[in-house]
Amino acid sequence: MKKIKMIYEGKAKKLFTTEEKDVLIQEFKDDATAFNAQKKGTIIGKGVVNNKISAIIFKYLQKHDIPTHFIKQLDERDMLIKTLEIIPIEVTIRNIVAGGMAKMLGLEEGIVLDEPVLEYHYKSDALDDPLINEYHVKALKLVTLKDLDEVKKLSFKINDLLKEFFSKRRLDLVDFKLEFGKYKGKILLGDEISPDTCRLWEEKTGKKLDKDRFRRDLGEIEEAYQEVLKRVIS
Ligand code: 5GP
Repeated sequence: MKKIKMIYEGKAKKLFTTEEKDVLIQEFKDDATAFNAQKKGTIIGKGVVNNKISAIIFKYLQKHDIPTHFIKQLDERDMLIKTLEIIPIEVTIRNIVAGGMAKMLGLEEGIVLDEPVLEYHYKSDALDDPLINEYHVKALKLVTLKDLDEVKKLSFKINDLLKEFFSKRRLDLVDFKLEFGKYKGKILLGDEISPDTCRLWEEKTGKKLDKDRFRRDLGEIEEAYQEVLKRVIS
């Protein structure tokens, strides 16, 4: 499958059309941004690592009956995906307090939540992905409530699967962001699952092995991504 035309360039990925109508190529870049692109940089090798990690995780989720846009990994930076009609909602699931939740509620990072917290954010760079609830989703007609229910169910199931997956690799899944879309009437998981979109803390030491190393200038950024890949492959 060949790239024909670039139809989208985002902060971390590019999308290309292919010879097939409902199939795209998703290319992972080394570019990194944070705080709604106010901070910009490059994490050498990130694209290659995130492509590999995402491919492995999509395969794992598919094996456990989660429908995803992933078709197959093509090469180091590219994967073949189904063309989704993106639902403009980012779903965040939190198992441990960190980042946005710590800030919004004045909490210490690291508090383990009794039950996962699910958040919806309206996907809008201009508005900085604001937190919304089901009433906003309904008012803005972002998706039907039936589909939202499906998104919610899939998100919690994905959380259970990912927590187990990372725990086997001695990583705590703190929180992560998911995006969904529709393909031939069905809801599929889209985007990527990687240290760009998940917070992963090393079990016991609590060392951050994710994009927070870039966001917070913690150093050893490339090493952290490589470490996650090493564990995901094992
Ligand atoms: P927070 O709301 O705490 O900033 O983010 C919660 C989780 O979702 C983190 O794991 C973070 O990496 C992920 N996340 C939320 N929004 C975005 C986004 O726009 N881009 C990326 N790469 N990750 C996000």
